[in-house]
Amino acid sequence: MKYALALVNIKGLGVKTFSYLVPDEMQGKLQIGQPILVPFGHQGLVNAFCVGFSDYLPGDFKVKKINRILDETPLFSLEYLKLLEWVANYYCCDLVTVLNAAIPLKLIEKAAKTEQVIEFVTFDGATKRQREVLEALEKTGKTQLTEFEKAAKTTRATIKKLESLGCVKLTSEDIYRNPLDVLNITQTEPLAELSPEQQKAYEAICGKTGTMLLHGITASGKTEVYFKLINDTIKAGKTVLFLAPEIALASQLTQRLAKKFGTSDVAIWHSSISDGERYDVWQKLRKHEIKILAGARSAVFAPLDNIGLIIIDEEHESAYKQTHPAPRYDAKIVAQKLAEFHNCPLILGSATPDISVYYRAENEGNLFELKNRYNNASLPRVSVINMQEHGRGAYKNIISKPLQTAINETLTQKQQVILLINRRGFATFTQCQACGNVCGCPNCAIPLIWHNSDQHLKCHYCSYIESFPETCPECGSDALKISGSGTQKIEQLVKELYPQHTVARIDSDILTRKGEHVRLLEQFAAGEIDILVGTQMIAKGLDNPNVTLVGVISADDSFNLPDFRSSERGFQLLTQVAGRSGRGKFDGSVIFQTYNPDFYALASAKAQNYTDFYNTEIAAREEFDYPPFSKIVRVIVSCENNFRAEKSAQEIALRLGTMVEKYGISERLEILGPSACVIERINSQYRFQILLKNKMDEKGHNFITSFLSKVSMPRDIKLTIDVDPLDIL
Ligand code: ADP
Ligand code: ZN
Ligand code: ZN
Repeated sequence: MKYALALVNIKGLGVKTFSYLVPDEMQGKLQIGQPILVPFGHQGLVNAFCVGFSDYLPGDFKVKKINRILDETPLFSLEYLKLLEWVANYYCCDLVTVLNAAIPLKLIEKAAKTEQVIEFVTFDGATKRQREVLEALEKTGKTQLTEFEKAAKTTRATIKKLESLGCVKLTSEDIYRNPLDVLNITQTEPLAELSPEQQKAYEAICGKTGTMLLHGITASGKTEVYFKLINDTIKAGKTVLFLAPEIALASQLTQRLAKKFGTSDVAIWHSSISDGERYDVWQKLRKHEIKILAGARSAVFAPLDNIGLIIIDEEHESAYKQTHPAPRYDAKIVAQKLAEFHNCPLILGSATPDISVYYRAENEGNLFELKNRYNNASLPRVSVINMQEHGRGAYKNIISKPLQTAINETLTQKQQVILLINRRGFATFTQCQACGNVCGCPNCAIPLIWHNSDQHLKCHYCSYIESFPETCPECGSDALKISGSGTQKIEQLVKELYPQHTVARIDSDILTRKGEHVRLLEQFAAGEIDILVGTQMIAKGLDNPNVTLVGVISADDSFNLPDFRSSERGFQLLTQVAGRSGRGKFDGSVIFQTYNPDFYALASAKAQNYTDFYNTEIAAREEFDYPPFSKIVRVIVSCENNFRAEKSAQEIALRLGTMVEKYGISERLEILGPSACVIERINSQYRFQILLKNKMDEKGHNFITSFLSKVSMPRDIKLTIDVDPLDIL
């Protein structure tokens, strides 16, 4: 091959591909996926990846030569690039955007001018520290790093090495805590003996390929079934990809896997591992040293070869979909493609399956069920408290008397309590008691949220912040009152009610403190926390046998959102959080506080009956042509100028409408809108949306994406395309 296509990442230009001449001495050596050094304009030599070959140039211009190959081991394969290309097409964005999400592009940051010294620019933002450390490392004379390693090694790997050499002292900031580091495994645990019901599901799944659903109620032992299948897969010499919805759960899972299968065969992958960690795992993957890779959403892009099994646990979780930035991919959809490429099974597991997933699995004969808890443990008792009878909104009744009594009883028994605050309802807003005005963000058209810790009102979309106003901005009255029930407020109330007990809170605020989430979950598991207060973040994955009471402060909040998935989301949340109660030898109970006890999704959650809920929900979806009876593409047009945003949206809708008419497919490709989004403005940008309901599968999808990829907009107008959006708010 005469020319190679190199992917470079240039400041100001972004990630782009350029053609280079392959020098004679590299013929036969250069491979796709290798990191290389190429000359670039005034910048001198820069790092790049080889991503393709050609015998011809796309135009008539002079090309430069590749300087050299930085590392012979390719970081990815041709098949891998093909998967990324598919993702780019499906999600209607360019390959470079997908590459950006998938590959540690920090590894191809611009290099220094001379080829001897590669500048360390972006190591988790710890540039200076990094350089200090590397200098110290070189001074020891004990370590020789190649230039590429220098550029790629991270704080953690390098600093750890240095500490072992006695050159630096580690601070907790320096290391990302790998869940495998804290394990000391001398002997792996044997696999559990499956219960008859588990065995039946296992045997039914064995040997099948394609997408399957394992629908097992909470604590039915889905994990044991997965382990059996994993064991078979690695015995057959293949690898396993296992996804959990978020980092804390992926960490727990990695430890569980390591205990069963040994630390050396298992690795973890998610967005928060450091660049060096990622680079190390990446190298191990390329050398086929890893048999089981656990991780969160982004692990679906890890270059794992020879895959024999993909598992996605808690598949209903919305965290599998990336909503921002592009590519707005769904790891479930990408995994399905990946499984196709490898001709291997994809197992989706959940107690509350995604309605569309359940529908397909049932129709395709790929539905497997576990209907009982392991050891026939009983499901928790669920009771519903009608808050209408307890006085709406009164401060002291945010936690109703019956719930308070139940909490007291549980604490007396030395058992633990989980209190869920449903944050999807817009909590702790500030309302004027005189005129009803709710203090909103001036940029985003949503209520500002009161933060007790620093006594400010904040916008959760654009980070606008202000102090508590003295008078109502609308009517001047001083009757401003904080209403709603945010996590901080409930935490404070709980602390006042139960001063003798330890209370902790988990919500998105703690994500800003690295490792805090995992730490709190560990403390809770160790019994050091009596009452855990939190948002949906505490509803999933916790397997803590001493939890016997789950209280839901306001069960209706998700149901009230104007979105076609809100019943599904609400049902899933309530069922999942209920499933955290009574998982051990003690019976559990659950209390839902609600203003709307007869709502079908709430009633099904109370009965813990997925089938009931599914039957009602699927009928409604069919009636209104919502997924799975259609696929939705959401187009958001945004602009600082309200009028221009609306006009552009109308123009796109009109052009698309004309095309659809022309091809005679308007029956099967419905265009809704444009209409103002429920959240009309974010970051000072007015938002209008067009919803496309596609009832023709791939054909319709291709029609839409090829149309949208050709739409060009004036500079001040932003077009956001979300394929299979999570919500339409
Ligand atoms: P799920 O993922 O379905 O909610 P888990 O796999 O976490 O449930 O199982 C719930 C509990 O039951 C766990 O503590 C697990 O160790 C135990 N368990 C499940 N199946 C078995 C089995 N076959 N043998 C021993 N313990 C089991
Ligand atoms: Zn007012
Ligand atoms: Zn805002």
